Amino acid sequence: VCACEPGTLSLTRRFDRAQTACNMLRGNYAKHVMVFSEALHQRQLYHESLINDLNRAVEEKQLLVYFQPKYDIRQEPPVLSSAEALVRWNHPEYGMVSPGDFIPLFESNGMIQIVDHYVWETTAAQIRYWKDTYGYAIPVSVNLSRIDMYDSELERKFLDLLARYNLTTADIMLEVTESAYTDDAGQLINTVNSLRSLGFRVEMDDFGSGYSSLNMLASLPIDVLKMDMKFVRNMDKGEHNKAIIELIIDIAKKLGKTSVSEGVETEAEYLYLKQIGCDVIQGYYFSRPLPEKDFLELIKKGYKV
Ligand code: C2E
Ligand code: MG
Ligand code: MG
Repeated sequence: VCACEPGTLSLTRRFDRAQTACNMLRGNYAKHVMVFSEALHQRQLYHESLINDLNRAVEEKQLLVYFQPKYDIRQEPPVLSSAEALVRWNHPEYGMVSPGDFIPLFESNGMIQIVDHYVWETTAAQIRYWKDTYGYAIPVSVNLSRIDMYDSELERKFLDLLARYNLTTADIMLEVTESAYTDDAGQLINTVNSLRSLGFRVEMDDFGSGYSSLNMLASLPIDVLKMDMKFVRNMDKGEHNKAIIELIIDIAKKLGKTSVSEGVETEAEYLYLKQIGCDVIQGYYFSRPLPEKDFLELIKKGYKV
């Protein structure tokens, strides 16, 4: 529905606005009416400008890569074992834009590959720099989008990346979000298989957030099961939630996969996950995602104690 005075807008623009409102409803089965509003219009303009600005952001290095450590809690004290590369956008007009604002947008129009390639490249360069400067580095995982999984050049791109920075598959791990597995299972399994046969370790991100979780597990060629953070967030909202968490950690164990819990914010959550046998933890309890300089301090500490 386009809420405007008749005659104030051309038919085409009214149609466009009604179409925009209609698009907002797609996939929402609980709501049947959406009115095109000024807020919707502003959001559309904001998205348009992010789309227009992306190439420039890459050229001008407005995209930043932060690192969030993952700790192996099978040992006491826990050991900094790897990290996840997470993108940030320091936009000249909007300031720090959250990935939540632009990742879904770029996923929907395919431009996410520009972001992903930038993050992979920056991460590889960073690991090279740590090795050259300090003589050590830790493995870092990068996120892959659904569209990457259909890229026939994906394997070549990663091999090329390793070659250019003289790295190995032990240096970079790959996180594939669970929802990517729902589309075309056969194709995705092939891609993951071929990445693994090159030596890459593959993590299934956000496990439990999609529909396919249990369905996919049997045929899943992955190394690491990363439980969606909503389970930890809801941990104290009833015993059922804990039962599910224990089940997921158990499944990982039975299948011989490493289990990772993300979004761990409190000591109580950490101690509970440790007690039920979770292997690795990522979350604000240990550290927020950090800019490279701060992260480096952690690595140095982690290797010296
Ligand atoms: P993700 O891969 O599941 O990453 C974890 C998200 O949880 C990150 O949000 C991280 O900052 C946040 N987080 C970590 N610890 C905690 C915690 O203790 N509590 C809470 N509440 N949150 C925590 P971020 O950085 O906003 O990223 C959101 C999502 O955006 C990521 O989810 C990932 O799916 C996507 N993303 C980020 N960087 C990239 C990228 O380079 N490429 C692609 N394709 N996606 C990316
Ligand atoms: Mg991830
Ligand atoms: Mg995740």
